[in-house]
Amino acid sequence: MSTIFGKIIRRELPADIVYEDDRALAFRDINPAAPTHVLVIPKREITNVGSLDPEDAALAGHLLWVCQQVAAQEGLEDFRVVTNSGAGAGQSVFHLHFHVLGGRRLAWPPG
Ligand code: 5GP
Repeated sequence: MSTIFGKIIRRELPADIVYEDDRALAFRDINPAAPTHVLVIPKREITNVGSLDPEDAALAGHLLWVCQQVAAQEGLEDFRVVTNSGAGAGQSVFHLHFHVLGGRRLAWPPG
């Protein structure tokens, strides 16, 4: 099932892309919750962490590495990586994504 992120991957919708490789794309969130708010997604359509298969483990690890690269690129020493899996956890776009947040003090726990 294609989502709005599928359209961004296919360049059917514009996005402020900050990182790209053969497996991953990272772009700024349209409604930032912090001074830096970047979404890191796989180019392959995967719904969320809850739907990962064992074969996806290397890709999931790669996405976390991309989160680290993005944080470094953005000059963030401290940052948060968060992913919502399922509507009840706050997921609104059903294409796996990691939020990379930073640039302000972040409270814990999230709501
Ligand atoms: P979720 O709620 O699924 O964890 O996060 C989805 C995120 O995608 C939200 O933070 C929302 O602001 C962002 N978002 C939704 N539509 C678009 C879009 O068209 N472009 C960009 N760049 N971000 C989007």
